[in-house]
Amino acid sequence: MEIDVCCRICSGRLEQVADFGRQPLSDAFRVPAEQRAEFFFRLAVGVCGSCSMVQLMEEVPRDRMFHDGYPYLSSGSSVMRAHFAGFAERVMSEWSDPFVVELGCNDGVMLGNLARAGVRHLGVEPSGGVADRAAAQGVRVCKEFFESGVAERIRATDGPADVIYAANTLCHIPYVGSILRGVATLLGPEGVFVFEDPYLGDVVRLTSFDQIYDEHFFLFSAGSVQRMAAPYGLELVDVERLAVHGGEVRYTLARKGARDQSAAVRELLADEAAQGIADAAALRAFAGRAADTRDRLVALLTELRERGASVAGYGATAKSATVLNYCGIGPDLIPFIVDTTQAKQGRLTPGSHIPIRGPEAFRDPYPDYAVLFAWNHAAEIMTKEQEFREAGGQWIRYVPEVHVA
Ligand SMILES: [Zn+2]
Repeated sequence: MEIDVCCRICSGRLEQVADFGRQPLSDAFRVPAEQRAEFFFRLAVGVCGSCSMVQLMEEVPRDRMFHDGYPYLSSGSSVMRAHFAGFAERVMSEWSDPFVVELGCNDGVMLGNLARAGVRHLGVEPSGGVADRAAAQGVRVCKEFFESGVAERIRATDGPADVIYAANTLCHIPYVGSILRGVATLLGPEGVFVFEDPYLGDVVRLTSFDQIYDEHFFLFSAGSVQRMAAPYGLELVDVERLAVHGGEVRYTLARKGARDQSAAVRELLADEAAQGIADAAALRAFAGRAADTRDRLVALLTELRERGASVAGYGATAKSATVLNYCGIGPDLIPFIVDTTQAKQGRLTPGSHIPIRGPEAFRDPYPDYAVLFAWNHAAEIMTKEQEFREAGGQWIRYVPEVHVA
């Protein structure tokens, strides 16, 4: 049954456009003996008829997602380490003696660069385990959820921020208005708020429906971000397409009137309008393509099982929770998934209960087929796992559609 749900940005009416069914928390990896009932929620997507923001219909309480045991480490990929080092370099070349605040600094993968260079900085990170890792490499970190009260305190102690940065954080937060109020409090008159998140346009174009899971509450576009920022006296002044994480946009907000809007913003807004990316009809078509991917992937894995081929999964990512649970794939179709994150090894994938093993299990012996769940790191993984291909192994991909490579 569809119930009336309001937009978290503007209280407009949400129209449901996709339903990925009952889903667990994407990062709730269980030990095999765990008896406690698993938490499930309904993963459905709606679009606001007023401000065009694409968002989840149902929200998971934040303390269930971002806690001391939060397992994701931003520095796990060399591509991402280089990406964040590049941003730090840019900040240091564009500003002299800036004060930089990062929201959701994770293990300090970006701020570590600034800390080593002696740049004034502060990380705000509510997940205690990863915050400790940031502190261990010299990052100044406060273990809190960023809100306007916290912003006022930081401004009183450290002064206004020149750069506020958030990578793969803002789209996680349903109560984003309170973050933007905090940004408006903390940002200096000439300061910028820079954030990067998965881009709606890429998700629709690639049918990468696995970008949708509990932690990705919003799917931003230039149009929806521009409307979201306005009530806080902020405006969108620049956008940059990023190839990381399957396609993201880096948005730059500034105080209204402080900076000119770049040509890139005007171009992306025009592009979005021409393609109608936030139209309910386009989003329903996207949901239809996701259903095709589900049917084809299950058919392929079933056929491989009947042929007696061996199959493993590669990367027990948060994204994979949506694919596995939406498709109803369990250990009968994928007996195990390998992952380099030690905290996940020996555990089961949420909801689908597929055992997770260390990377050594992958080559002992190599399976005939491997489903690449970490497709956003495909280039890095293909290079690392050349021997798998040389041994006759084949990758199964499902973005933008199901194919064997
Ligand atoms: Zn709205």
